[in-house]
Amino acid sequence: MAETKYIFVTGGVSSSLGKGIIAASLAKLLQARGFKTTIQKLDPYINVDPGTLNPYEHGECYVTEDGAETDLDLGHYERFLNVNTSQANNVTTGRIYQSVIEKERRGEFLGKTVQVVPHITNEIKERIQLLGNNGDYDIVITEIGGTVGDIESLPYIEAVRQLKWELGDENALVIHLTLVPYLAAAGELKTKPTQHSVKTLMESGIKADILVCRTEHELSDDIRRKLAIFCNVRQEAVIQSIDADTIYDVPNMMLEEGLDTVTLKKLGLPDDTTPKLERWNEFLKRHKNPKSEVNIGLIGKYVELQDSYKSILEAFIHAGAENEVKVNIESIHSEFINENTIHHKIAHLDGILVAPGFGERGIEGKIDAVRFARENKIPFLGICLGMQMAVIEFARNVLQLKAANSTEMDPETQHPVIDLMEEQKDITHKGGTMRLGAWDCHLTENSLVSRIYGKADIKERHRHRFEYNNKYKEHLENAGMLSTGINPDTGLVEVVELKDHPWFIGVQYHPEYKSTVASPHPLFVDFIKAARTYSRKKNSASLAPNQ
Ligand code: GLN
Repeated sequence: MAETKYIFVTGGVSSSLGKGIIAASLAKLLQARGFKTTIQKLDPYINVDPGTLNPYEHGECYVTEDGAETDLDLGHYERFLNVNTSQANNVTTGRIYQSVIEKERRGEFLGKTVQVVPHITNEIKERIQLLGNNGDYDIVITEIGGTVGDIESLPYIEAVRQLKWELGDENALVIHLTLVPYLAAAGELKTKPTQHSVKTLMESGIKADILVCRTEHELSDDIRRKLAIFCNVRQEAVIQSIDADTIYDVPNMMLEEGLDTVTLKKLGLPDDTTPKLERWNEFLKRHKNPKSEVNIGLIGKYVELQDSYKSILEAFIHAGAENEVKVNIESIHSEFINENTIHHKIAHLDGILVAPGFGERGIEGKIDAVRFARENKIPFLGICLGMQMAVIEFARNVLQLKAANSTEMDPETQHPVIDLMEEQKDITHKGGTMRLGAWDCHLTENSLVSRIYGKADIKERHRHRFEYNNKYKEHLENAGMLSTGINPDTGLVEVVELKDHPWFIGVQYHPEYKSTVASPHPLFVDFIKAARTYSRKKNSASLAPNQ
């Protein structure tokens, strides 16, 4: 194909309408028709990346293969498309300004006054085209974060306006996502907020080509006609996006609404293929028709906010479908786990996952949960901080090193079983000390983890500062906590498992970032399998006649 086509997705009326899911669904349909498609998210906040935001602010921080700390929407893109994203796929206002200011300091603007227009808008346009210019993609979908009319989105909207003009109508289009609210008192769907939002977009010089309307009720033909005429789009370009049972239904819903067809038509691309969605639909079928269920405890400290553990929750959906098991997640706040509550809170579970996290709050509850899983032989998966807690628990309660801790929680601890590496100790700049992105790991032959992966060499994504302290390795191993995944270059321990436990694994990396619909993560798949086995055993034991 000659030129890369660009699709911009803007949002109006309200936030949280699901722009990321619409963008990912459209990308999925285009990919399923054979177009090489990628998605990019532009975030209008001033943080250089979301790495420094706490999960309450912005949900999970998603990490890409190349080590970028990004918006959680990139996780959706990867889960839908099964294609890696990179730093170039997520750009924030902070990054744009940082780069423009660095250029100014280097004297690249030849004595000119540096301004939002054209310097900031040019930088935005460059970042958008960066993905298209290398020839890897037929179509680039760029999602503009925020809502039109926001002060902070203005430079992005202006950049889109200019780019659309430069590229020409056949090479670029704008999809505007809005809300069509239902007023119960009037018994009607209301189009006015959408009209206003389209008008705001028009004031910035952008005409929406396609409207995607979030709604709780079906849009009648009348409403569609009204939206089309007042928002200046063709009726077939009014796309209904009704609330779905699962985000994974959205690609099929968009297919039914013809979002891919109008898009291709507007971009002058051939519409002579049918999307190949067999694998996707097979996943949906399994997801919707489970044969059994398991209860998994997600022990974390950001459990009030659904989005904090987004990739973990999605990885469970993929793994559940693979096993044809419904995975019920019980989010359990680790701050409320203690000796008195633990039995009531976790004894009934079929699997326990101790979540990633930072800082001291809630860690004792996590350690108690690990102990419960270890002693009662409940399947256990510890991710990042969860793995570190497993090491601390084992050191305290099996090795009897009662003071064992991570230097993150207690810098003076007598037994730093989790510690900073020497070379990290002098770095104070946030972001500078983190081990980020994909790192190699070699799995020990005949270990549980190598059986699960079915291979010896893996690459997984990291996001942490502290590490397993190799000074305690021999002691831990001799007592039964085996190090079964090692970074071949640094010797750092990436995986631990227990000798005398049917399924107990701690991983320093984040397997959840790599689980997709097309390729569910083996650790999650096997964890759910182990939980099902555990649950069956438990049930058959309780059904056994009294002797
Ligand atoms: N706080 C721990 C560290 O920095 C774990 C981080 C995580 O769970 N992502 O090493």
